[in-house]
This record gives sequence, C-alpha cells and structure tokens, in this order.
Amino acid sequence: MTEEYELEACKVCHEDAAYVEEEGGWCVYVVCPHCGTLTAFCRYDKGQSREEAVKQAVDLWNMGKVIAERRGE
Ligand SMILES: [Zn+2]
Repeated sequence: MTEEYELEACKVCHEDAAYVEEEGGWCVYVVCPHCGTLTAFCRYDKGQSREEAVKQAVDLWNMGKVIAERRGE
C-alpha cells in the first residue's frame, strides 16, 4: 500500500500537511487538513487508472490549481 507522490507545501497556508484523499471509490483529490484547500476531484472510473488520477491530483496541487476553502476558524 505504498503510494509514490510528492506533495508540495500548501500554497495557501504553507503548511506541509497535504495528503491524497479518496472519495467514494471513484475519485481522488489532494487536501490540506490545515486550511481546507483542495484540488478538483480527479475521477478514475473512465479509462483512467487510480494511479493516474492520483498523479493528476498531485500535479494540480503542485501547480497551485487549488480551491481555497474559507472556513471560519
Ligand atoms: Zn493549507
């Protein structure tokens, strides 16, 4: 169960705490548990393997293509 990916620190809060989360067995995304910033969901049920979807989510994260979630602290 080892997954190989390198996640950069969060672009929003600069915490190095992001991880890949799986949603309902059909998509993955990267989320920062510190500030709630996340990437778009990357589906892997349509001709794309889960590994590819994880890589896609990681790439989105590292490019800074993220959705900042503003939660009241
Ligand atoms: Zn963050």
